[in-house]
Amino acid sequence: MADCVMETDSPLIQLYQSRGYMSGRCSLAELGITLDLDPTKVCIRVHSVPNVPRAVLELYERANFHPDLPSDFFERRGNMQSSFFGSAQEVRAFDVFVTSGLDPLNTVYLYGHEYGHLLSRLGLREMIYDKFKDPTAVPWFIEDEEHFAELTGNLAMLTQRYDLSDITSTNPDGTVHARESEARRFILENIRG
Ligand SMILES: [Zn+2]
Repeated sequence: MADCVMETDSPLIQLYQSRGYMSGRCSLAELGITLDLDPTKVCIRVHSVPNVPRAVLELYERANFHPDLPSDFFERRGNMQSSFFGSAQEVRAFDVFVTSGLDPLNTVYLYGHEYGHLLSRLGLREMIYDKFKDPTAVPWFIEDEEHFAELTGNLAMLTQRYDLSDITSTNPDGTVHARESEARRFILENIRG
C-alpha cells in the first residue's frame, strides 16, 4: 500500500483529499521508493477491493465517465487496474485498484505492477532504473507501459525478499509468461546488491 503525507492548502486537492486521495510525500512500500508528488497537481488513491472491475465501474459512474467497455471487461480486468483522470484545473488523479484477500506474494506483485503504471504516467521510470547496476541500461524488452509494469511487479517481489529464482508466472498467455520470465531474469542479473 502507499503511505502518504498530505500538506497543502490547495482547495482542489482538499476536495480530492476529502474523497480519500493522497499527495505530497508518498511511500510505495512494495517497491521501496518514495515519491514527492506536487500536492497542487497530482494525487493518488489506492483501492484494495474484493472486486476490481466492479470498483472501477463505480469510479467511472461517480466521475460521470462512460467509456465503451469491452464485452469481456469483467473477465479481462481480473485482479488489478489503474485509472487516470485529469481535470480542467490540471490536477491529475490516479486510482490504483488491487484485489483484496489474495495471498501475500500475489498481492505484492499486483501492487508492484500497478505502481509501474503509475510511475510511467508520472514520467518517473528512472526511479526504478536507478536501482540497476547500470541505470542507463534500460531493459531491452521494455517496449510499452505494460512491459514496464511487469518489471516493477517482479521487482516488488524481490524488494519484499521473495526468492525470484523460485518464482514462475502463472499467466496463461504464453507471450506474457515469457516476458515475465525475462523481467525476472533481468532483475536478478542487474539489480544492485
Ligand atoms: Zn498492467
